[in-house]
Amino acid sequence: RSKHAGRNRFTTFDWSMRAEQDRTYELETGLRAALANDELQLHYQPIFDSATGRIAMCEALMRWNHPVHGPISPGEFIPIAESTALIEPITHWAVRKACHDAMQWPDSVRLAVNISPALLKADGLPRSVISALLASGLAARRLELEVTESIFLEDDRRTHLILNELRRIGLRLALDDFGTGYSSLGSLRTHEFDTIKVDQSFMRDVADNPRHRVIAQSVSQLARALYVETVAEGIETEEQLRYAQEAGFTNLQGFILSRPIPQDRLLALMEERHNVQAEAATLIQARR
Ligand code: C2E
Ligand code: MG
Ligand code: MG
Ligand code: MG
Repeated sequence: RSKHAGRNRFTTFDWSMRAEQDRTYELETGLRAALANDELQLHYQPIFDSATGRIAMCEALMRWNHPVHGPISPGEFIPIAESTALIEPITHWAVRKACHDAMQWPDSVRLAVNISPALLKADGLPRSVISALLASGLAARRLELEVTESIFLEDDRRTHLILNELRRIGLRLALDDFGTGYSSLGSLRTHEFDTIKVDQSFMRDVADNPRHRVIAQSVSQLARALYVETVAEGIETEEQLRYAQEAGFTNLQGFILSRPIPQDRLLALMEERHNVQAEAATLIQARR
């Protein structure tokens, strides 16, 4: 009997593995076609200046509307793109498209684009970014590339050279998801960043975890001393907003202020007077 049960369990396990592999394979194939078929989109999430309540920058976040499976989150398809060579053309597309869109924003608003760690080990990125800047006319200092500290997991000389080259072009560099890796302080020591984005897990717990509060506050003070800007990611409640402001974060990002939205809605938001931007500004200033 027990042998039989064990066998059944194994069969079930096997089936779900199989289904997962099938989906991954299907998405991988689909992703190849997605670029050509206009299934990929960029949404932009505004990030607000905590002193003025104005939009300081917008983060480009990729969206994939699959013809059969519907919307697929980047949390699922970006790793698939990373495990194939697809991440390179997809990133190239994203940077070009985002730079182009950012030219319609006010000059004071910067653009942030996520860059996969793998792309900091190959040589193509700086050239790809330069071509996007030239094609769009966007000033290099308005573009911020977000990388995670996992790029420093192996002390790869090439990664450092590429980061230096990106800085020489005049781009800004942001350290994304700060505090989730193994070597957060080490990353700050080995490379100069313009912005530190403190991971949303710190905001999630900040209300009932005093340790997270102390860490968030210390990171913001450390950053200030290094003349580095900070972003508090994942602010969902007024309580979290208050903490982020009290902790002295330079910039604020989260669903309570704005979700990621398509370019047309972003433009409307940047223009209108009585709008979400004004609402966000009110929320932010109400807490100062
Ligand atoms: P990330 O770079 O840390 O982006 C922030 C994520 O947090 C986004 O998820 C955003 O929608 C979400 N977020 C923002 N505010 C809140 C909030 O208040 N609460 C919660 N729960 N979430 C919030 P999204 O768009 O699903 O992207 C997930 C991740 O996928 C990104 O994390 C980034 O690592 C990756 N990604 C997205 N677009 C790209 C891209 O174009 N290229 C690369 N390489 N990675 C991308
Ligand atoms: Mg990011
Ligand atoms: Mg992040
Ligand atoms: Mg994140």
